Amino acid sequence: MNTISINNLVRENILKLQPYISFRDHNQFNDPAFLDANESPFGECNRYPDSTQRKLKNRLSVLKNVSPSQIAIGNGSDELIDLILKIFCEPKKDSILMMNPSFAMYGFYATINENRVLQINLDENFDIVKDDFLRIVKEQPIKVFFLCSPNNPTGNSVDDIEFYLQNFDGIVVVDEAYIEFSGKKSSLELLTKYPNLIVLQTFSKAWGIAGARVGMAYASEEIIKLINTVKAPYNVNVLSQELILKTLDEETNLQENVSKILAEKEWLQERFKDIKCIDKVFPTDANFFLIKMKNVGKVYDMMLEQEILTSRRDPAIPGCIRINVGNRQDNEKLINLLKNISE
Ligand SMILES: *Cc1c(COP(=O)(O)O)cnc(C)c1O
Repeated sequence: MNTISINNLVRENILKLQPYISFRDHNQFNDPAFLDANESPFGECNRYPDSTQRKLKNRLSVLKNVSPSQIAIGNGSDELIDLILKIFCEPKKDSILMMNPSFAMYGFYATINENRVLQINLDENFDIVKDDFLRIVKEQPIKVFFLCSPNNPTGNSVDDIEFYLQNFDGIVVVDEAYIEFSGKKSSLELLTKYPNLIVLQTFSKAWGIAGARVGMAYASEEIIKLINTVKAPYNVNVLSQELILKTLDEETNLQENVSKILAEKEWLQERFKDIKCIDKVFPTDANFFLIKMKNVGKVYDMMLEQEILTSRRDPAIPGCIRINVGNRQDNEKLINLLKNISE
């Protein structure tokens, strides 16, 4: 058991903050007249959403085998990244650590919050070098370490996450945006052991509901209370909460969609083998490929000309483009174009 005190990591102003409590959301009524929030009595979506997202948390609690008091819901996991930084990182003073390359939003929100962004460069297989990690965390105080597994944009998973929890006394965020594609174990099971662990998941990728903007943080009760205190009370709207509940009722959709995407991924992978402009396809646990092209500028421009939108990673990752798995029609369009470039 890890003996980290969360309170010692929290900004002082946040520790003193009183949460905004929506009275109606924290009490039970039979048939109330809602005259407390200046809403209109008319309209289809006239009431404010449940600020505690109770139904959603109860459903997720069953699905993930985590107590509702250990779940926070955000307007996408992006909002949760922002809130975590605001809770733990003093502007102009504290630093965060992230993998390089990794998801840009950690650095983006840290910069807005005026925190220093330290990066740990991944090796040629996009793995973390543990000795580098130990050296970096010894050299300077770091408040939050963002681990992304599977990592965006490289696609590989982080090995031995527990090592980082055991050798770091700040907050460890494990971003599992792509975990459903990976077949790997979630870090959720480590929550009972590490009070400084935050696991992020999202409805934006495998669940196919990016438009609703709903993400989850799973953590110790202490951390979840802090997130609930600093979040905007009505951060997840009524329509999104309802849509997610409906989707959770049809849970088979998730497995079906993941299977379909993984089958398409394999289909693409087979065809990539015969394409001459491809130098290397990196191993991936996610729903996307990081691909090194022989003439990246030309390939990217030709795809764009055909309105095939991909994510150019060159020059940060030399020669590389990130391409996600689409439906068969899109994947065929991609393969046909890449074949033509080779000729
Ligand atoms: C897509 C993605 C997310 C999801 O963000 P949302 O705000 O939940 O849509 C989070 N982390 C990573 C690494 C991602 O690639």
